[in-house]
Amino acid sequence: MAEYSNLIGGESRPAASGRTLDSVDPATGEVWARVPRSGAADAAAAVAAARAAFPAWSGLPAAARAHHLRKVAKIFAGHARELAELETRDNGRIIGETAGRDLPGMTHLWNNAAAEAADAVKGRTVDFGPTSLGLTRREPYGVTLGIIPWNSPISTLSAKAAFALAAGNTVIIKPAEQASVSSLRVGELLREVLPPGALNIVAGLGEEVGDPLVRHPGIDKISLTGSVDTAKIITRASADSLKPLALELGGKSPNIVFADADLDRAAPGVTTQAIFTANAGQICYGGSRVLVQRPVYEEMIERMTAIAAGIRLGDPFSDETTMGPVVSREQFERVTSYLELGAKEGAELVFGGRSGPDAAPEGFSGGYWVEPTLFATADNALRICQEEIFGPVAVVLPFDTEDEALAIANDSPYGLAAGVWTRDLGTAHRMFRNLEAGTVWVNTFRKVMFPLEGTKDSGYGHDSVLAYTREKSGLIEI
Ligand code: NAD
Repeated sequence: MAEYSNLIGGESRPAASGRTLDSVDPATGEVWARVPRSGAADAAAAVAAARAAFPAWSGLPAAARAHHLRKVAKIFAGHARELAELETRDNGRIIGETAGRDLPGMTHLWNNAAAEAADAVKGRTVDFGPTSLGLTRREPYGVTLGIIPWNSPISTLSAKAAFALAAGNTVIIKPAEQASVSSLRVGELLREVLPPGALNIVAGLGEEVGDPLVRHPGIDKISLTGSVDTAKIITRASADSLKPLALELGGKSPNIVFADADLDRAAPGVTTQAIFTANAGQICYGGSRVLVQRPVYEEMIERMTAIAAGIRLGDPFSDETTMGPVVSREQFERVTSYLELGAKEGAELVFGGRSGPDAAPEGFSGGYWVEPTLFATADNALRICQEEIFGPVAVVLPFDTEDEALAIANDSPYGLAAGVWTRDLGTAHRMFRNLEAGTVWVNTFRKVMFPLEGTKDSGYGHDSVLAYTREKSGLIEI
């Protein structure tokens, strides 16, 4: 059984208590690795290590920090396949996504952070006349805490660590208990190229190690990617120490198809990479509400059904597979409860709907399998239209006018992302301006955009080099 350790102060360490958590392969339901079940003592050790490393790391010229980050990018390039396979084993995300999309993107991300390190030290001057000079200086916060979810650990870890390190902060990452292995392996690899304590990775449960980190006075900024419920808990827990927060939360993103759209692009655009084949719908900005203008409503449903029939649920390690399992038993139960709810709420089941052994591909008896499932309804008030399911479940809703599309799209507690499919430039402009979403894609979906920042219950704040600095101002008089 593979065992992984925390990274604290440049050393691989088990939890101080010696306790571990099992990591389960979602394709089989079997335990395949053990990770530390860290607690308050490990949290304190990580904070001490990060604080000790801060003066030297933040004191380096930006070019020297960039040099370290480029070495990290090389490690990601050299170990891309290994890391992709660990992540696929740990969270069930198919190899086509981890090896084909995420890992190549990480080399770019760390190189970009290196290139942007110089921005973090650029201040401004303001001329107040012959005897007064105003000036600003960008400073790192100090020790930053990145709390990450299980659906895309390496890319979320990278977004939280690379930009914070580039800006001169030292960093602690708390991976999710369901999928910590790839993050812990990254920690082992990066020991070689980062000074001890610059990056620390501490695995365990949210309540046991996340909470003491959040409350620790030695943490200067927190960036969470996770659920709304956790964001509220963290906001309350960090209130006594008034820590700045960035909260990248959930979504129920509308993907809106107008009758004038190129349906050859829109149909696959709203069916595959927007939701079903994108990590079995377990992505924050999944286009899980498909709004279709009435003249093309029936045609779109036919096209989506035909495309869904071609989705291959199967072994996450096979290049033929286009959709894998959901991450855990808990997530399986959550997703399947929404399949029952959709039927109970009176939505029409357009395709899919099977789960467990009925949905399992050949050769898999255990594991957490759910078919790509599409419901249809005209009622956006249903819970399946309002709540984030975070699985391969979408709902299609008809609309008549642009105003109606906008009203339905914005009638959501979330505001993370939106897609618009149209050939009309006016429609595209108005939708971009009026959709309540942090990111709007037109005639595409899920191309990476920075910043990725939400509105409403999707949170606020984002990860970038400048977001990990604060601006100090001064006035010098002679
Ligand atoms: P989660 O909120 O349950 O867990 C996220 C992280 O928070 C985990 O590491 C967990 O251990 C930690 N945590 C839990 N309780 C804590 C506490 N009391 N103190 C400190 N840490 C605590 O979310 P999840 O189920 O892992 O991930 C799914 C959610 O993440 C979905 O809502 C999804 O939309 C969201 N997400 C958002 C983005 C984005 O960029 N906006 C990206 C991916 C996922």
